[in-house]
Amino acid sequence: MSAVTLDDVDRQLHRRAIFRFQAGIETLFVDEYARSRARMAPVWALLGLAMYLFQLNDDYNLTPDVFEPLLYARVAIFAPGCLIGLWLVMRRPDAAIRYDLLTLWVGVVGSLLPMAIASQTTSQHLFAYQNGNVGALMFFVIVLRPRFPVALIGLVLMAAIHLVTMALSGAFDEMAYTSIVTFVVTSAVFMAAGAFFLELTDRKNFLLRLRAGLLHEQLLEKSERDQLTGLLNRHSLARIRDTIWNGGRRMRSVTAILLDLDHFKLFNDMHGHLDGDECLRATAQCISRQVGQTADVFRFGGEEFLILATDTEALGALAMAERIRVSIEALAIRNRGLSEAIVTASLGVAIARPAEQTLEELLSQADAALYEAKRMGRNTVAMSPSSAEAHVA
Ligand code: GH3
Ligand code: MG
Ligand code: MG
Repeated sequence: MSAVTLDDVDRQLHRRAIFRFQAGIETLFVDEYARSRARMAPVWALLGLAMYLFQLNDDYNLTPDVFEPLLYARVAIFAPGCLIGLWLVMRRPDAAIRYDLLTLWVGVVGSLLPMAIASQTTSQHLFAYQNGNVGALMFFVIVLRPRFPVALIGLVLMAAIHLVTMALSGAFDEMAYTSIVTFVVTSAVFMAAGAFFLELTDRKNFLLRLRAGLLHEQLLEKSERDQLTGLLNRHSLARIRDTIWNGGRRMRSVTAILLDLDHFKLFNDMHGHLDGDECLRATAQCISRQVGQTADVFRFGGEEFLILATDTEALGALAMAERIRVSIEALAIRNRGLSEAIVTASLGVAIARPAEQTLEELLSQADAALYEAKRMGRNTVAMSPSSAEAHVA
């Protein structure tokens, strides 16, 4: 879903002809089509097969002279083919083409077998018998719901099979045959129109659902991000805490690094709030660059940042904090509030085992360590004593 944007979806929604979306959206649509149909396939397969075999009743009563081949065709050819097709669809629920072929087997072969055999009957009741085939058109379009082009191919083939087999039967005079043609063609045209509107509705609903999903994603993303720096905000900390503490008790350790810029009030006083904001952005980018994918970075407060990493050894955590400190120093952003000084940061590091400590306890240790770093003269890294004892071993 990530490759498709809200703009892409909106563009599709404003187009009149939506029978083929742009590539990324079409792929998602076809995937959903295949999976939703595959989910329902066992239900309609059982229902369809039961009804198909129920037609043996008509075979026996209306066309008794060809009952045996009809029985054979329904039980020994159609039913196994249907079950094998169902099995193939269930094995690859994402393969739309398998589902399409199964619907054609059901609709086209399902019509061809009884119509071809029944056309050989000498029964007087063939006219009544052939009417039943229209039920197959309905089942094919309304229950199986193949994609529109497949529905069209199927309907044309099914109508052609019906008309050719009945013509070849020689059982009808011109008047009767004309009424069969009218009935079958009308039914097929109505079914084709139905298939068209079903797919149109499917496609519109799909776009609207896709749009709602993307909007929801965007909203979540916005609610978890800090506007100024683009980093995660405090609100998102709860979710990440739940992931680490509830879902990840198997994690050996969690490291918290609290970072506070030194003398930032003076920076603001001398350079103004806008430059202060720019400095915060530069610091945020610098921290993100340093930790990459190895940790989550939050804007914790005004000019305080939190770095949370899992499964990091104490020495590794200290090294990460030191790397961040050095790289902020290397930005060499002048702080004219201090004579000849640049913007620096103090960092407090704490490590906990999620099974033993809460996030709040971990943060309060990191805060104490940060306080210690400030006390030591700033632009330095300090580790909480309890973390050092427990983890540097
Ligand atoms: P210390 O070295 O002890 O941390 O000194 P400090 O001046 O940095 O003190 P403190 O951390 O208490 O100061 C925070 C300052 O950060 C106060 C406020 O002006 C500034 N600040 C907080 N949020 C923002 C912001 O969004 N933009 C800007 N430009 N400044 C901010
Ligand atoms: Mg502060
Ligand atoms: Mg500060």
